[in-house]
Amino acid sequence: TTTPVNVTVTGAAGQIGYALLFRIASGQLLGPDTPVSLRLLEIPQGVKAAEGTAMELDDCAFPLLAGIDIFDDARQGFDGANVALLVGARPRSKGMERGDLLEANGGIFGPQGEAINAGAADDVKVLVVGNPANTNALIAQRHAPDVPAERFTAMTRLDHNRALHQLATKAGVAVNEVERLTIWGNHSATQYPDIFHARVGGRAATDVVDEAWLESEFIPTVAKRGAAIIEARGLSSAASAANAAIDHVHDWVTGTQGEGWTSAAIVSDGSYGVPEGLISSFPVRARDGRWEIVQGLEVNDFSRAKIDASVAELVEERDAVQQLGLV
Ligand code: NDP
Repeated sequence: TTTPVNVTVTGAAGQIGYALLFRIASGQLLGPDTPVSLRLLEIPQGVKAAEGTAMELDDCAFPLLAGIDIFDDARQGFDGANVALLVGARPRSKGMERGDLLEANGGIFGPQGEAINAGAADDVKVLVVGNPANTNALIAQRHAPDVPAERFTAMTRLDHNRALHQLATKAGVAVNEVERLTIWGNHSATQYPDIFHARVGGRAATDVVDEAWLESEFIPTVAKRGAAIIEARGLSSAASAANAAIDHVHDWVTGTQGEGWTSAAIVSDGSYGVPEGLISSFPVRARDGRWEIVQGLEVNDFSRAKIDASVAELVEERDAVQQLGLV
């Protein structure tokens, strides 16, 4: 038997948590041969609901689920964590200024970074889902000086998957015939879904769709999909967000296939003019448990302007949290 992998999930009693935990426990995060031990972290008011979810997890009798522990203390929750999914965050409420939002989240992600630094496993891999995800990841990373910075990532995989579907539908092909799409920048309305290197059924995407569709349909549809789902469902997307979190970690751990790539927000090494240290979305491949930025892609003027605009927003967020003393 293999030692179980410790997976910590914050905001475990929330709606993304509810869509995520059963898939982790069934083996979809780490594969069919890897037992998992779940560590659920909640705020005190969320503990009772997390206990209810744990009862349901028990009732699934998942063969790979080695244990479930519930905490309202970050130090305990991240103790021994091999994988940490940071889902719980302070949502923006009506009338809240951006500074207030960043400050509220700094109060969550700073201490969580410290707890990861203090007690997580040496191989810990962190994915931040809770918004503003890129900057929350930056805050956590800066509070964990002993953990390699590259272990802190933020999720743009849902944006990537949304873009895959939009392009496949427009081109009339199956999603698995679309490759080399990229989400650049911040997981926010400024994100840039780039099709200039994408291939659709073996052809260049730019030969299949025109630029008018790209600008007036594709980019806004991908960027505003979250709002469209709230409008239709009356609740924010949860199952698709959980699915994207599974995809991100699964690829990180098991590797991406071949020369294709996916998108993830990772610490910039300065590639493509993105300031070093920012957590920004790039075209990435995973090899041997590490993300690598796909190098050498030509960036045309259209893409350059879009990438720069999203990166400028990340710089502003970083400067704001610096001013607040959060990093
Ligand atoms: P959800 O589970 O729906 O969402 C959690 C976070 O994921 C939010 O910050 C949300 O951002 C974000 N998110 C990122 N991408 C997406 C996406 N594509 N679609 C939807 N959400 C996305 O929130 P709930 O309110 O249901 O649950 C949150 C839980 O977290 C609660 O149980 C709460 O008690 C807990 N919590 C735990 C903390 C902790 O462990 N320390 C701290 C704070 C909260 P956005 O709001 O922008 O949509």
